[in-house]
Amino acid sequence: MHCLRCHREIEPGHKSVALYMFAQTVGIRPRQKSTAQRISFCPQCSVSLAMGPPPEGALNMAAWDMMRELVGSDPALNHAAWEALSGINGLLPATGTEGERVPPQANGYFEF
Ligand SMILES: [Zn+2]
Repeated sequence: MHCLRCHREIEPGHKSVALYMFAQTVGIRPRQKSTAQRISFCPQCSVSLAMGPPPEGALNMAAWDMMRELVGSDPALNHAAWEALSGINGLLPATGTEGERVPPQANGYFEF
């Protein structure tokens, strides 16, 4: 499991935000329901996204609203991000320098 935004590995049981998404038909028989997709964000990216400007796209906006709700309702997620930041080694590599290259589509907001 990796953070969708920074690709940092999220080990099972480690602090993260899981976003589940599924699709379901309405008013159509038989009713169909897709499998649920799980999207994970590390605490740092969760807080960063929630504090940042609104993204483009309806799905991204919906995810952004949920992230803001989590970050805004209790400081626990902020604290988890702060703890990770205090550990230093999880910082994003600067572009153009040594280190893992972040794909161009992964430098911004939610990607569905
Ligand atoms: Zn991340």
